[in-house]
Amino acid sequence: MPLPFASRLDNVETSAIRELFKLLGKPGIISFAGGFPDSAMFDVDGLREASQKALAEEPGGALQYGATEGYEPLRAQLAAFEKGKGVQGLEPQQLIVTTGSQQALDLVGKTLVGPGDKVIVEGPTFLATIQCFRLYGADLVSAPIDSQGVQVDRLEALIREHKPKFVYLIPTFGNPSGALLSLERRRKVLELAVKYQTLVVEDDPYGDLYFTAQPPPPSLLALSHEVPGSREWLAHCGSMSKVLSPGLRVGWLVAPAELLAKATMCKQFSDAHTSTFAQATAAQYLKSGRMPDTLKRVRRVYAERAQAMGDSLKRELGDAIEFTQPQGGLFFWARLTGAGGKISDAGEFAKRAIEKGVAFVPGAPFFAKEPDRAALRLSFATADVEKIREGVARLGTALAS
Ligand code: PMP
Repeated sequence: MPLPFASRLDNVETSAIRELFKLLGKPGIISFAGGFPDSAMFDVDGLREASQKALAEEPGGALQYGATEGYEPLRAQLAAFEKGKGVQGLEPQQLIVTTGSQQALDLVGKTLVGPGDKVIVEGPTFLATIQCFRLYGADLVSAPIDSQGVQVDRLEALIREHKPKFVYLIPTFGNPSGALLSLERRRKVLELAVKYQTLVVEDDPYGDLYFTAQPPPPSLLALSHEVPGSREWLAHCGSMSKVLSPGLRVGWLVAPAELLAKATMCKQFSDAHTSTFAQATAAQYLKSGRMPDTLKRVRRVYAERAQAMGDSLKRELGDAIEFTQPQGGLFFWARLTGAGGKISDAGEFAKRAIEKGVAFVPGAPFFAKEPDRAALRLSFATADVEKIREGVARLGTALAS
């Protein structure tokens, strides 16, 4: 007798990507497949100091049960962190701490999505979000993107047509797209939120990982004070994962008061609160003033790797592949062109690549609708420059095979 699982599970399946990850254990494989930051980049000394201070200064706070909304000193530090990125008028009580930004997304899904509800996402978008919203029964609508991020005219048409519960966007260095939404389009997105009274959910785990001398355009949250009324229609998910440590599981959700209250209620039923030890450690870390240097270091290393990957792809794969050089984040989003009669199916290419000792993720699973089978995602985060060159050379061999 099969166990009587809830029918909501019918809407989701184990991701195709997980199957591929099983092959990554092969010895000698160079992986561009993961979405992880590089463990070598973690500020271990800084985190050791921060965790020791957390225990020494307020052991009760760091080890006891805590408030569902989050540890107050961390909420204050996170509000200040956002202020440093141009966010105006954000009080600590306007955000809650979540167990990674993944939980913030889950809470958004849990509080807003019922069976059959429409939600607009980018095509392509973050796979775990597709799965998470589908688990609550979302009928996902896919808005096309280009190198400037979501195409706002198409987005407006889709909002009119589908009247979605909300629109989910990764405006800055999207996963998997690497795309950066232009300033002009950001303003337009906020205007659309107000015009159609439609919530926009901004997922922003990569905004701090930029490679240019100047930061990218401000987050939708930071820009919201320029568009009257838009804060009421905006939720923002932040994360310490990509810059500090994903294992800490510290993220946050900024949202209109009513939504934040419902999300807090649901979080209470779920994990009661995010680990107080992790929160106290993150609070001490932010207080220590080490973050700016950590950010500089990770930006420099990832920028070098992104450059190496772009140069190698051009050299080794030539016109058989097309991509926009990412200006931040962890990913290249590329398409096989089929030029010169070469392979154009990324799934097939992934299999051949594994045989040659290099792994990446085919792009199709990242689409809620109408997958692009020629697309692929390559992460430059965990391999050093030499490995990147070698891995891309292997891709060239796989393409020729
Ligand atoms: N959103 C996006 C776009 C991501 O790529 C990730 C991590 N891969 C997350 C959210 C979740 O990150 P975390 O829960 O570690 O904050």
